Amino acid sequence: MPSPSAPTSVVTGAAGFLGSHLTDLLLARGHKVIGIDNFVTGSVDNIAHLGGKPNFKFIEQDVTEFIFLEGNVDYVWHFASPASPIDYLELPIQTLKVGSLGTHKALGLAKNKRARFLLASTSEVYGDPLVHPQTEDYWGNVNPIGPRGCYDEAKRFAEALTIAYNQEHRIQTRIVRIFNTYGPRMRLNDGRVVPAFISQALKNKPLTVFGKGAQTRSFCYVSDLIKGIYRLMLSSYDRPVNIGNPAEMTVLEFAREIIRATRSRSKVSFKPLPQDDPKQRRPDITRARKLLGWAPQVPLSKGLVKTIEYFRKKV
Ligand code: UDP
Repeated sequence: MPSPSAPTSVVTGAAGFLGSHLTDLLLARGHKVIGIDNFVTGSVDNIAHLGGKPNFKFIEQDVTEFIFLEGNVDYVWHFASPASPIDYLELPIQTLKVGSLGTHKALGLAKNKRARFLLASTSEVYGDPLVHPQTEDYWGNVNPIGPRGCYDEAKRFAEALTIAYNQEHRIQTRIVRIFNTYGPRMRLNDGRVVPAFISQALKNKPLTVFGKGAQTRSFCYVSDLIKGIYRLMLSSYDRPVNIGNPAEMTVLEFAREIIRATRSRSKVSFKPLPQDDPKQRRPDITRARKLLGWAPQVPLSKGLVKTIEYFRKKV
């Protein structure tokens, strides 16, 4: 049970894009936060503003190793993992290890401390989906040996392990399936479409649209996503819940939106479509709406203003 005064949260991947925003929200809501990260894809810049805060403690550690912590823990938020296609293509074994061994260690910590555990899972568990939009009941269409297999299968394993701990050890668990998210603190060179297009547009260079740009994605602003995840942790629901923005667009439409929002002179240049790139992706968020009373609030145009402002300082 959470402590009545200040609950203690452990965030793995606390120096990452999502982990650092989650840490900010938890501190703002009165939690003590212990952040863990090994900086494989996270950055010290994302947590530099937390230095000296009495409620924040940071441990540099690879979470595939045993996590030893003294004292009470109420919540474990397991966010550590490379999450961008070029990152996990470069780090397939580390990606598989953090999704499997890292999830095992984080669940072990939750069990030991009788804490509630939340797994940051992903829309990638649906693979290149044959059901559209994706509901949580869909089992997915994943190529285990394709370039995305290391990430997709690690997260699928992580979900299975989470449910196994829930059933066998009776620990309280939550699973969020995160769809494409954007906002400040994304890495400029992480290869994902949002930082790629914004940095290209700000330099008036061609936007590299893969394939014909007919594939679709739906982009959620980071503050919306983190609020939804927080609500999920506090809920009593232990099955997976999609959190994302259902406003779907093609990648080509998105490129044009970025050119407009940055007032760039860039054009679009077409590049080969990577193998197994999902053709369409949009969350069905009926479950999150009903169970959590959650829906995204920030329209793309507004979220992009803040994101572009951040990237202007970085390029
Ligand atoms: N994409 C693109 N140009 C880029 C980077 C990505 O056209 O420079 C496309 C990519 O092929 C995919 C979509 O944008 O269809 C989203 O890619 P991202 O890497 O952001 O994440 P994904 O949703 O594929 O995991």
